[in-house]
Amino acid sequence: MNRYDIHTTILSNENVAEDHYLLRCECPEIATHAQPGQFIHVLISNDSGLLLRRPFTVYSVDKYEITMLYQIIGEGTLRLSGMGNGSPLHVLGPLGNTFDIKKSAGPAILVGGGAGIASLMLLAAALRNESIETHALVGAQHRRRLLSIEDLKSIGVSVHIATDDGSVGHHGFVTDILSNMLSLSPNKPTIYACGPHGMLAAVSKITCQHDVPTQVAMENRMGCALGVCLGCVCPVRIDENQIEYQRVCTEGPVFNATEIAWEI
Ligand SMILES: Cc1cc2nc3c(=O)[nH]c(=O)nc-3n(C[C@H](O)[C@H](O)[C@H](O)COP(=O)(O)OP(=O)(O)OC[C@H]3O[C@@H](n4cnc5c(N)ncnc54)[C@H](O)[C@@H]3O)c2cc1C
Repeated sequence: MNRYDIHTTILSNENVAEDHYLLRCECPEIATHAQPGQFIHVLISNDSGLLLRRPFTVYSVDKYEITMLYQIIGEGTLRLSGMGNGSPLHVLGPLGNTFDIKKSAGPAILVGGGAGIASLMLLAAALRNESIETHALVGAQHRRRLLSIEDLKSIGVSVHIATDDGSVGHHGFVTDILSNMLSLSPNKPTIYACGPHGMLAAVSKITCQHDVPTQVAMENRMGCALGVCLGCVCPVRIDENQIEYQRVCTEGPVFNATEIAWEI
């Protein structure tokens, strides 16, 4: 798979929810080639404190443009949130493997926790293009941090909301909704999830109990994104007795949930 290092500028950088921004830039080669689950590695500034690029999933593509939806976490994303239209950006991508779209008797269920829903949006569009019935379970701490609801609805995805404080939707975790849906679903769905590590471990436990195929996009801390520094490895079960460390940047970010040794 080819990857491109593009010098571009920000077209828009909009505050869409508390501490969350949607950034749009022109990256023709990435827009043409990016597949669901793949990410870009963004050089925010040449300042010595920000020399490491930051990874973000491609949220959407439109002709020559791509968007990324990001949460302010630390210095890099805080700096990014303050950058206006016309600011320069170096964008490397598309990187990593992709979600494997399965056609099964049941629907697709997307489970997104916080900014994790950003990694599922391009997938949602691809599933709808294949006319696959798609449900998105979207979790947030509170209503001010809810993401992507209108974007998902606009492409025909049915949305189910959970908030930690009950300010909108189910009062509790998205995993409660998932358990419920799996208990009621007559046909075996396919699950695609992204979010905090604890949420992904919980999703994996539930879907394993119901024996439904589950793909997770891992968002480990990442350094080079090229498979060299080994900063982003996660433990993968090779067989009952053997664990191997695989790179989220090159072997991932998408893994089958049953492969990950969640307890480590
Ligand atoms: C494959 C992949 C896709 C991602 N997609 C998105 C996305 O679409 N939207 C979004 O909001 N976030 C996404 N993340 C997480 C995002 O990369 C981090 O939140 C961001 O790098 C934090 O940078 P910072 O400078 O603000 O934080 P700092 O804590 O100052 O970052 C310091 C270093 O740690 C790394 N880092 C810190 N937190 C994380 C984290 N949670 N995950 C990975 N690396 C981290 C940074 O890359 C940087 O190298 C993704 C992560 C990965 C690995």
